[in-house]
Amino acid sequence: MELGGQVAITHSVENYPGFPDGIPGPELVDAFQKQAERFGATVEFDTATEVDLSERPFKVVTYSGDLYTETLIITTGATPVYLDVPGEKDLTGRGVSYCATCDGHFFQGKDVIVVGGGDSALEEGLFLTRYANSIKVVHRRDELRAHALLQERAFANPKLEFYWDTEVQEIKGDPTVNEVQLINNKTGEIRSQATEGVFIFIGHRPNTELFQGKLELDEQGYIVVDKYAHTSIPGVYAAGEVADPHFRQVITSAGMGAAAAMEAIHFLEENE
Ligand code: NAP
Repeated sequence: MELGGQVAITHSVENYPGFPDGIPGPELVDAFQKQAERFGATVEFDTATEVDLSERPFKVVTYSGDLYTETLIITTGATPVYLDVPGEKDLTGRGVSYCATCDGHFFQGKDVIVVGGGDSALEEGLFLTRYANSIKVVHRRDELRAHALLQERAFANPKLEFYWDTEVQEIKGDPTVNEVQLINNKTGEIRSQATEGVFIFIGHRPNTELFQGKLELDEQGYIVVDKYAHTSIPGVYAAGEVADPHFRQVITSAGMGAAAAMEAIHFLEENE
């Protein structure tokens, strides 16, 4: 029930053009909204529970009623993947987090672990060095997936330590996290690690449940689009992370959104 999705919970967006010093995610989203409204867009908050794309006008069922539309642009984004280990669900918000930029300040002077070996794990891990005393990066392999520059920065930071070939088996604590059980997947060695925070960054899943069987999705569940943001149904477009497992940046998502909007206008003109 808020605009902006993952951007809205990003502490600082450093790579959106026009903001040489970076801009807080919520401020960027707010500016997007104001700019769109200046051109006549209206924003309504609701949850879509079902869509019927079999004929036009397309139908979107929401809690407050059915919406009918001649074109539809889908921008439902992606959601973090869960580790799915005992304790994770119960301790979410009580030491388990999926967003360092939202929760990092709660961990001032504390020891935390970060799970994952991709760009997100390292970027968020580096962000946590502003607050936490130490950050142990727990990764299931002995080599990182993150890009080289990020790896260099992470290895150079004395607050970051790496636990290779290691997986989290269980997260413990009551009422808040105080320990994780780790297993070395090469040696089988199990050990307990005291920690007050567990930050999980092991990828994302596209929010496409609503469109299963209604639009072409790829094997990972992302909406298949062509370079014009067209989905498998004429008049239906998709933009941003729901259709982009590769770039996943605000600038690329905004570009896709602009392309989708231009194509939607052409579609309406052609089908007047
Ligand atoms: P990712 O690249 O898919 O990395 C996920 C990491 O989590 C991998 O290291 C993976 O291990 C590990 N993992 C997956 N499932 C796991 C499980 N069940 N248990 C333990 N570990 C698990 O995801 P991401 O880091 O969120 O990045 C996604 C995309 O966004 C990438 O394209 C990335 O480049 C982009 N991104 C870009 C920026 C930026 O440019 N500033 C910032 C953040 C993200 P394996 O390596 O063994 O598979």
